[in-house]
Amino acid sequence: MDPDQLFVKIANKEIPSQEVYSDEEFYAFRDINPGAPTHILVIPRRHIKRITDAGEEDALLLGRMILVANKIARQEGIAEDGFRYVINCNQNGGQSVYHIHLHILGGRPMAWPPG
Ligand code: 5GP
Repeated sequence: MDPDQLFVKIANKEIPSQEVYSDEEFYAFRDINPGAPTHILVIPRRHIKRITDAGEEDALLLGRMILVANKIARQEGIAEDGFRYVINCNQNGGQSVYHIHLHILGGRPMAWPPG
């Protein structure tokens, strides 16, 4: 399988995942290797490899992705204590799956600066 298509297959339910949220534009699921008590990935159904490939036409999609993540953070009960959003890009950013995804990390205090 083309590893870039992994998250598309997860969104299409061709590969199982723990669903957290789904609508016609986005899918969110629990990270298989959580880095925090709450670790959720929000992905657009549209395949965009990396955040720097997003164009003007994706401006609303990216904005809505944050709003979906806000809704999830509230549902998960981490909004009040706080949480972190992360988008890794390319090698130095630590991106391992080449389909845009927003990490929602919460349930414990986060360190800064990140590793
Ligand atoms: P990245 O390193 O690209 O920012 O994040 C990719 C994330 O996807 C990692 O945190 C990794 O644990 C998660 N991941 C990779 N493969 C799978 C999978 O098949 N299922 C789920 N639920 N998460 C995955």
